[in-house]
Amino acid sequence: MIKITFPDGNVREYESGITGYEIAKGISPRLAAEVLAVSVKPEGDESIDAGETIDLTRPITDNCSIRLLKWEDEEGKRVFWHSSSHLLAEALEALYPGVKFGIGPAVDNGFYYDVDLGGQTLTDSDLPKVEQKMLELAREKQEFHRIDVSKDDALKYFGEKGDQYKCELISELQDGSITYYTNGAFTDLCRGPHLMNTEVIKAVKLTALAGAYWRGDEHRQQLTRVYGITFPKKSMLDEYVAMVEEAKKRDHRKLGKEMELFTFSPRVGMGLPMWLPKGTVMRHELENFLRKKLLQYGYDEVVTPHIGSKQLYVTSGHWAKYGKDSFQPIHTPQEGEEYMLKPMNCPHHCEIYASSPRSYRDLPLRLAEFGTVYRYEQSGELHGLTRVRCFTQDDAHMYVRPDQLKDEFKKVIDLIQYVFKVFRFDKFTAQISLRDKKDRSKYIGSDENWEKAEQAIIDSAAEKGLPTVVKYGEAAFYGPKLDFMVKDALGREWQLGTIQVDYNLPERFQLEYTDADGSKKRPIMIHRAPFGSIERFTAVLLEHTAGHLPLWLSPEQVKVLPISEKYADYAKKVCESLKNSDIRASIDDRNETLGKRIREISLLRVPVIVIVGEKEAAAGSVSVRRDGVDKGVVTVQEFIDRFKAAVAEELA
Ligand SMILES: [Zn+2]
Ligand SMILES: [Zn+2]
Repeated sequence: MIKITFPDGNVREYESGITGYEIAKGISPRLAAEVLAVSVKPEGDESIDAGETIDLTRPITDNCSIRLLKWEDEEGKRVFWHSSSHLLAEALEALYPGVKFGIGPAVDNGFYYDVDLGGQTLTDSDLPKVEQKMLELAREKQEFHRIDVSKDDALKYFGEKGDQYKCELISELQDGSITYYTNGAFTDLCRGPHLMNTEVIKAVKLTALAGAYWRGDEHRQQLTRVYGITFPKKSMLDEYVAMVEEAKKRDHRKLGKEMELFTFSPRVGMGLPMWLPKGTVMRHELENFLRKKLLQYGYDEVVTPHIGSKQLYVTSGHWAKYGKDSFQPIHTPQEGEEYMLKPMNCPHHCEIYASSPRSYRDLPLRLAEFGTVYRYEQSGELHGLTRVRCFTQDDAHMYVRPDQLKDEFKKVIDLIQYVFKVFRFDKFTAQISLRDKKDRSKYIGSDENWEKAEQAIIDSAAEKGLPTVVKYGEAAFYGPKLDFMVKDALGREWQLGTIQVDYNLPERFQLEYTDADGSKKRPIMIHRAPFGSIERFTAVLLEHTAGHLPLWLSPEQVKVLPISEKYADYAKKVCESLKNSDIRASIDDRNETLGKRIREISLLRVPVIVIVGEKEAAAGSVSVRRDGVDKGVVTVQEFIDRFKAAVAEELA
């Protein structure tokens, strides 16, 4: 018998060799119908690791803890979508005989398969036919079978099939570790895990076709990447399609244009955003919002240059790690003199730390900067404000003693949670990003320091009660981090704030403080950015709110509309009163109908419109509309008071 521990702490005994499916069936038929895969973690594994996801049909032979994964679980979805990619391949093979296959993984929103169609063509108009074939095959309730295969046999099978891509992948694998998965007429080289059978796949949408180089290498064969998404219910697909439509309407690039916030110009250069007057107001408001908090949390604001000597980045390690892929050094008339556009602010801040002797009493030292940095993103990766080559981080570096690390880390978590509250990002998870377990060569610094830093993050997140997930291999090269992933109004996930622990830069820059006993010690550094960057945050906020920003942040808060020219003077008077009360107001007294002016203003997403005519002019009042809803008539002073109260409430 073996002991199996469930997520609620319950332990049950089972015959060795029991499967995840049998366990689920023993609990309830309903669970058995919903379960997609099982996550298994061996007894004694105390790591925060999520465990290994395996097929429901694999025998479990040792004591372990398990989680039965359903659609609601991220890992469950992955298994569902990976299995769907096999179904796609099977359908393509049926419709396009001779097609060859690259790789077909699950991704964040569905799956893809890279295929070589030989001389055959596949266009968007062919996709419905492929979707139908997939559904037809799914209904056959094809079982997924896992088969161990020797390297020779695998090479022979795919060699005879003429699939050079699979042969290349197999040639790099160790004999004895190779498995196939088959479903219906289709056999794939695959590690799994997979669904029990295809019947649970009830709705299919192939979403896009794209070109993709084999193994991402532009010198090799270009394959066709077929993207798709599948669901266990038809209604879920309908919801998804509606969500995608809504996302198009909320695309921040579209909103940025309509709201006149930012622009790009190929003459200036790709990925280099320019902030228009309205966008600049918004940006300054975002900065000032954080600035108030900086004061409260004891930060000191600093300003550093946009460039730094190449030597600075040799010292920091950035040159060795990223130099080749960065903007290349700037040369000066001075022979051999080289500068870099700054890719991050940390090295400059380390030099500020080093500019004065520090004692244990001076720590934590918190240096904050709205620091603009430059990174050479590949042109194919650039996207609106979310992927740019120049952006401004709401950056800060804390230099702390070891005994202060956890408290300081927790304070940053508080700050980030406040930011999320104000912007109504109610759903978020904190991703604990640790080192890759297998390949430690990618990281600098000692094992001992890494372990301490990783533990500090894990403990802080736990003590703050954050919902967390652990990702191995996602750490920065200099230290582990806590990344905040928010869900927007459409349920899409974005990475925003980040907090990182760093033992390495203080070492590289030989930073010191004098401890109570007079000895010299190294501070620990924390990097943190609640927004991530102003650019990215703006993009996410626009898509989250569909451009309906909070009052305090709206570049134009109030538009004053006289009903006709006759009341333009009164409108001007009202507008002046609002401006004198620090409300960003302007007049629209163009000789257009009220309806037309209101429609145009709604494109700019000005949250409040006040309309004035004969009655208002006589009574010293305004007629108020907020986000398209009539709010009645109030005196100008009352309007100002209410406006201020609404702003205060937003920021509470
Ligand atoms: Zn597979
Ligand atoms: Zn930093």
